[in-house]
Amino acid sequence: MTASVTAPGVILGRCNPYGAETGGPKRVLGGMYGPRSATTPDMHLPLNVEQGEWACSRRADVRARMHCRCGHTGQVMELCSWHEDTVYHGEFVAGVTRQVSDTVRQHGHFEEIQKRQSGSCPKCLFPRPYDELAREIMAWQATLTQYWIAGPAQWHSAPAQALRTRVDDAGKLMDTARAAGIIHNCPLTLVPLS
Ligand SMILES: [Zn+2]
Ligand SMILES: [Zn+2]
Ligand SMILES: [Zn+2]
Repeated sequence: MTASVTAPGVILGRCNPYGAETGGPKRVLGGMYGPRSATTPDMHLPLNVEQGEWACSRRADVRARMHCRCGHTGQVMELCSWHEDTVYHGEFVAGVTRQVSDTVRQHGHFEEIQKRQSGSCPKCLFPRPYDELAREIMAWQATLTQYWIAGPAQWHSAPAQALRTRVDDAGKLMDTARAAGIIHNCPLTLVPLS
């Protein structure tokens, strides 16, 4: 346990790196696209962790949450920090192989997540009303797929054409917002609560 990041007098529960015990991974960053949106494909974690389906069995040492540069904050996470683990290995001493234990210092999920400075803020990536717009575009595209499946006559029909125009216009709105910096990538930093 690292004293410097442990608030005295705060009783912590289990380490809960991805919100698995409080509503699932979809709550980690708002989960715009459902539970799978909390996946972490570029963090080089074990597969079950990547998919956000994993909970740590250690006790939490630190309370922390994600901050972006624009002042958005994520939910408070209770995380494990530095701890010592005992590892066993064989050692050849005086002609005999014996089991020897060593104490190894291991970083916890706080350090793990902090080190990655993971991801970008979803609220900066999809600020209002562009979050709604993004959802609408996806719905329109799903409808367009139905027109496509229904065949050429449907695909070239007036309603389908109107929908394509709407998708185009919405795309331009998104581009404009991106160019203006309204939609932007905002790196997240994990900050302990004091
Ligand atoms: Zn931002
Ligand atoms: Zn942990
Ligand atoms: Zn933000």
